[in-house]
Amino acid sequence: MSRIDLADGFSIHDYRSKLKLLKDSGETRTLENRDGLRCPACDAAFDRLFVTERRTATFDVPPERPFCLARTGDKLLLCTH
Ligand SMILES: [Zn+2]
Repeated sequence: MSRIDLADGFSIHDYRSKLKLLKDSGETRTLENRDGLRCPACDAAFDRLFVTERRTATFDVPPERPFCLARTGDKLLLCTH
């Protein structure tokens, strides 16, 4: 199983076959992990991925679940497990 690689930033298009887009508000996206992709922070498979280019964002994350943060030059990524 592959891991999300942030060395050259993050583009959803690189993982199009592995991530299903659940919600897209333009600047903020919620994606479902369909193929056991691994988290760029902790290297474990994640459940949902939230991506934003905004300075601030609010995500509906299930309570009491671990989450990881990762960032590139222009994006913030949040993975829930
Ligand atoms: Zn993680």
